[in-house]
Amino acid sequence: MNAAPALMLRPPDIQPYRHSASGTDYVHVLDSGLPGPTVMVQALTHGNELCGAIALDWLFKQGMGRSVQPLMGKLILSFANVAAFERFDAQDPNASRCVDEDLNRVWADEVLFGPGDSLELRRARQLQPFVDSADLLFDIHSMQDACRPLMVCGLLDKGAAFARQLGMPGDLLIDTGHPSGLRMRDRGGFGDPGSPKNALLIECGQHWEASSVDVAIDGLLRFLRLTGMVAPAWAEQHLRLALPERQQLIRVNEAVTALSPDFHFLFPVRGLDVIAAAGTSFAQDGDTVFRTQHDNTVLVMPSTKHGKRGNTMVRLGRFEQA
Ligand SMILES: [Zn+2]
Repeated sequence: MNAAPALMLRPPDIQPYRHSASGTDYVHVLDSGLPGPTVMVQALTHGNELCGAIALDWLFKQGMGRSVQPLMGKLILSFANVAAFERFDAQDPNASRCVDEDLNRVWADEVLFGPGDSLELRRARQLQPFVDSADLLFDIHSMQDACRPLMVCGLLDKGAAFARQLGMPGDLLIDTGHPSGLRMRDRGGFGDPGSPKNALLIECGQHWEASSVDVAIDGLLRFLRLTGMVAPAWAEQHLRLALPERQQLIRVNEAVTALSPDFHFLFPVRGLDVIAAAGTSFAQDGDTVFRTQHDNTVLVMPSTKHGKRGNTMVRLGRFEQA
């Protein structure tokens, strides 16, 4: 099993962003007063994913909302699961992903407007009008295990096309959604092929790697430039990373779920590893052995934590030519 990655990042102080004229704590709406798209950037959908919060804090410190204003339309900047983030404990950094349930699995109408109650549902109900008003969404995440950055483009090719316009990161993922609940990035028009709305969810690297901040800030700058929120020259002067030489698309075709806590990989695995041969045994759970169905199977976000029955342990996909 992988050793726990070292904690290279500190949680930023986001208290200055609590009070907001939007009426919702930690959600800021910057209105240019001019026609244009409503663009939303969200950090802390998961409370322990620090790079997005650091990127938004950085953006505010560059004067966004004061000396720097969106050039058109509206820009919504949101810190989502602040209650989980506030519980961040450097001794147990995984514990602050959420409080009661995963905020990124509650976005179906029947859940959001249903009878359920949890801290995350209450927060999602506050965020919903902002999310539904957005034409274009950028949701900033990081990953449990070490892996190169990737863009979760949703279920539709329009998400991958948007990521190609952005130009980064190098790996783009089209998946099958999450069986345990609708993600924010797949909600409403974002998940409708006929809608011009579009959303991107960026996974900037492992949760506490310093490089995840560079990826988050670059992704944020490129997104704000692409959507016309900031001047190209302003974005350019702050960029930290070169664009990848090319982007490749991975299409997920299967999720592997644990049958018991005994689920384990048969060799060390890392996100985006490729297993060359069809029929390769790669994991086992009791008497069940999991084998690849085709050549060049890509392992998408394998979980090296112990799983419970029904937990997704890895998703399998293949690289696709654009
Ligand atoms: Zn996340």
